[in-house]
Amino acid sequence: MSTQVYLNGQFVPYEKALVHVEDRGYVYADGVYEVIRLYAGQPFELEAHLERLERSSAGIRLNIPAKDELTAAAWETIRRNNIDEGTLYIQVTRGVAPRRHQFPEQVAPVIYMLARTITPPSAALMHEGVSVITVPDIRWHHCNIKAIALLANVLAKQQAADANAYEAIFVRPGVGAAGGEGTADGTVTEGSSTNVFAVVDGQLYTHPEGPYILSGITRQVVLRLAAQERITLREEPVLVSQLAKVTEIFITSTTNEVMPVTKLDGCPVGNGRPGPITLQLAAAFTANRGAS
Ligand code: PMP
Repeated sequence: MSTQVYLNGQFVPYEKALVHVEDRGYVYADGVYEVIRLYAGQPFELEAHLERLERSSAGIRLNIPAKDELTAAAWETIRRNNIDEGTLYIQVTRGVAPRRHQFPEQVAPVIYMLARTITPPSAALMHEGVSVITVPDIRWHHCNIKAIALLANVLAKQQAADANAYEAIFVRPGVGAAGGEGTADGTVTEGSSTNVFAVVDGQLYTHPEGPYILSGITRQVVLRLAAQERITLREEPVLVSQLAKVTEIFITSTTNEVMPVTKLDGCPVGNGRPGPITLQLAAAFTANRGAS
């Protein structure tokens, strides 16, 4: 059976799921999205994802259908495609209108949902950890909005791929005494498609919510699990100057779950093996996420 794509309230075969060249998503990247993990056909944290979609839409002043309607469409998309281990992608753009920067009047948003099977990261990666590189964070100051405008993230991920690394970690330059950038210490914000956690002096850190990171749903789950596991977690950024003494790093996302990082810019992190806090949270995550 071919993939059925939800497009504006209808289900259409994948090959026929087409949008107009003047869709504002295509022309301006004027839209928002979500990626939801499906475990044994069940969407993980669907409610939290749809709430974030609402916040992202509000952040770009885009009206989207009510959560109930989106929830029903999400389940129907999963059901029709009979997905077991996979993802559900939801995208909403401001719609189709002649090109003009300001919002068009009375244009309906274009919504689509696509469920697909995925191959989860291999057990070897989860066991051995991955390597990452640091790159300057050149993004805008609304990273909390899950916007489809991902060019900086795409370029960063490609830079990582070119360096045979798994992920690129963004570093924001520090603000100097005179207010200029780059003189004082920089901070680690997040990965190109992941949130970043690091252990410094035995304490676990992750960047606080706000305009410089996307508030990851997996990050939220890990915050809860850390509390349950009685691991002290400080929502404070790690400074670039602290990176040399970081003993553990892991990245989190819907598709990567809790992924150990064992190499940073070519150097081993700690002893080069996934650390105890990382492994404890990875195990807690696996136990929490339900069937797989
Ligand atoms: N940060 C960025 C920039 C991302 O694109 C993602 C993945 N969507 C994340 C963090 C992780 O978010 P989540 O755990 O909700 O997948």
